[in-house]
Amino acid sequence: MKIGVYPGSFDPFTVGHLDVLKNAAPLFDKLYVAVLYNAGKSATFSVDDRVDMINRVIEHEHLENVHSGRFDGLLVDYASKVGAEFIIRGLRATSDFEYEFQIDAVNRHLNSKVKTVYFMASPAHSFLSSSNVKEICCYDGNIEGLVPQYNKERICERLIRQ
Ligand code: ADP
Repeated sequence: MKIGVYPGSFDPFTVGHLDVLKNAAPLFDKLYVAVLYNAGKSATFSVDDRVDMINRVIEHEHLENVHSGRFDGLLVDYASKVGAEFIIRGLRATSDFEYEFQIDAVNRHLNSKVKTVYFMASPAHSFLSSSNVKEICCYDGNIEGLVPQYNKERICERLIRQ
């Protein structure tokens, strides 16, 4: 069985993340979208909120082979735990490359059996990030088209409450 893990902060999950997920899902028997929590990174949305919004994505987009998960240790350990041989990552502008290059070297060192597969961001989403979404929302801007429609209200509510 071909199993993959798509890890990230997903704080919150955007249409850029969705694009990567939709491209990757057909290539696997099972794909876990794994939310990273802890690791010294403070998040705006709780891990439960982020997992919940990803579950809505899975349901609305009919991604039957996709499952949500969470992890707070080493990614390669999570991958081994769920039996995944592949890690999925997205690449936007050149700045992502530098970071991904380092992470890949570390992951290879830790477990050379786990391979990372990269998907280029679509041109329409190449500058879209969770941080952009939060910033736009905080200044009362419209995030229509930047996050899945069915999660939009929940994201705005949370950010406005902040
Ligand atoms: P992380 O903190 O692990 O980078 P993110 O939630 O920011 O978590 O991103 C998760 C993955 O999705 C990363 O591989 C990132 O490069 C990719 N990604 C984020 N935004 C986009 C986008 N707009 N298009 C394609 N890939 C993206």
